Amino acid sequence: MAGEPQADCVFCKIVSGDVPATVVRKTERTLTFRDINPQAPTHLLVIPRVHYPDAAELAAAEPEVAAELLAEAGGAAAGEGLEAYRLIFNTGAGAGQTVFHAHVHVLGGKPLTEGLV
Ligand code: 5GP
Ligand code: ZN
Repeated sequence: MAGEPQADCVFCKIVSGDVPATVVRKTERTLTFRDINPQAPTHLLVIPRVHYPDAAELAAAEPEVAAELLAEAGGAAAGEGLEAYRLIFNTGAGAGQTVFHAHVHVLGGKPLTEGLV
């Protein structure tokens, strides 16, 4: 069924507690934790507890959870004291997506004024 946990998904395992993560925020429907391989001084991932392969599919199926993901990204950035930050949704292997459970990267703590790619 759509949204159900997937046995081979590392983010589902973080949601269930089977894989440890440095969690900085939680809501009933989302989890925010530090990326294991940070690309900036602050690098967080905000994920829905439900499993969808990417953010667009999450938004199509459960728009209120997708909205909460964005609100949590903003809250997490504020919680880290970031004045400016970048949100990234890699979608598809060709765009660098490696974990096929919807997530948004929150990057900040250094100048992010270069281009997008
Ligand atoms: P993607 O490339 O799919 O947009 O992003 C996946 C992100 O998840 C990568 O930045 C990667 O470092 C992070 N990641 C992968 N496995 C784990 C893990 O087990 N724990 C944490 N905290 N981050 C992970
Ligand atoms: Zn998953």
